[in-house]
Amino acid sequence: MTNCFKTTNPKRKTMTNPDPHAALREHLAELRLAQIAEIYPEVLNEAARKNCSPLDVLATLVAAEITARRERALQRRIAAARLPKRKTLEEFDMAFPKRIPKQKVLRLFDCEFVAQHQSAVIIGPTGIGKTHLLTALGYTACERGVSVRFTRVVDMLNGLTAAQINGTLAKALKVYTTPSLLLLDELGYLPIDKRGADLMFQVVAARYESGSTVITTNRAFRDWGKIFDVDNTLATAMIDRLMHHGEAIVIQGDSYRLKDRPPE
Ligand code: ADP
Ligand code: MG
Repeated sequence: MTNCFKTTNPKRKTMTNPDPHAALREHLAELRLAQIAEIYPEVLNEAARKNCSPLDVLATLVAAEITARRERALQRRIAAARLPKRKTLEEFDMAFPKRIPKQKVLRLFDCEFVAQHQSAVIIGPTGIGKTHLLTALGYTACERGVSVRFTRVVDMLNGLTAAQINGTLAKALKVYTTPSLLLLDELGYLPIDKRGADLMFQVVAARYESGSTVITTNRAFRDWGKIFDVDNTLATAMIDRLMHHGEAIVIQGDSYRLKDRPPE
């Protein structure tokens, strides 16, 4: 193959390798265009067979690179989010719970609340699908390009407590304060001591008006004081920050886990 183009910048000759394929592969590697490097021989062959235009070839290669990059970025976002096993909104039977504010739930999944730094609290009994919805929301948000972090409240507080004892709290807090969307699962299943309550408040307060937080809980707001082993003021201050630009999504009904169990 001969090189039929003049180099665009004659002062800086970039095509140093006499083998045009080797030179191209070198340059693609330098530009980190891995997908183009992988598929260009096949695309060129197909283009020759089908008599495609050079513009088609270029457009196909660039589109393939972009698709591969977006997919890699999505996989990175999903890994960073530490989401549980995938669940989807489609798999969630809206007709199962006795009561569910369907429109509010669907609105969450368009993810516009994230850009507005709004929050939500999903309240409902065990087995009603709170973790399912929170997980599905996490995957959807990742697909929309949002940086997400999912954690059970107890895991976050254990991690932050250990970090505080080790003197690395500031760094540990960033894990939960920097993502655009923080998904906190299972508030209220275990009591939270004073230190945990302070740490949880620090996270919620740091995210107030600068990030979105979605929390699931089996406890109504009036019972939040009982979750924290401190006075009610902290629970009230936390609810204030979450609800100032946020909404409560209350789901009622029986556990889905018991759905197919025959009555005793
Ligand atoms: P919670 O977090 O509220 O205790 P989960 O989200 O863990 O409940 O739900 C328990 C199980 O039931 C999960 O496997 C979940 O996928 C399933 N599930 C719950 N609600 C529904 C629903 N409405 N439609 C489909 N599956 C559901
Ligand atoms: Mg759950």
